Amino acid sequence: MKKEMICIMCPMGCNMTVTEENGEIQVTGNTCIRGANFAKEEMTCPKRVVTTSVKTSAGVKSCKTTQAIPKSMIFDCMKEIEKLRLKKVKFGQVIIKNILGTGADVVVTADD
Ligand code: SF4
Repeated sequence: MKKEMICIMCPMGCNMTVTEENGEIQVTGNTCIRGANFAKEEMTCPKRVVTTSVKTSAGVKSCKTTQAIPKSMIFDCMKEIEKLRLKKVKFGQVIIKNILGTGADVVVTADD
């Protein structure tokens, strides 16, 4: 299998070609090792940081996961965050610890 992808690990956005043959993944077009690691992860277990919002008494506040989580779990995590109805929140506050066992916390990224 051969796949073209753009590395999203830095603004350079290298165009990479990823080839998978007999379980071995080869990456070309990357400028650094981060691109190769990203491409391999995309082929095996793609992950993303979730950025969304949470409902509080002062309105909707932005929040995000502290690290990337498997893409396959994003919608379930969004549902967990959507269940919350918080009072006052502050920047950096952990509102869900280890969401769904991913190892990532959800933190507030805005003040009330
Ligand atoms: S391969 Fe390296 S230089 Fe290229 S976009 Fe990814 S992180 Fe940036």
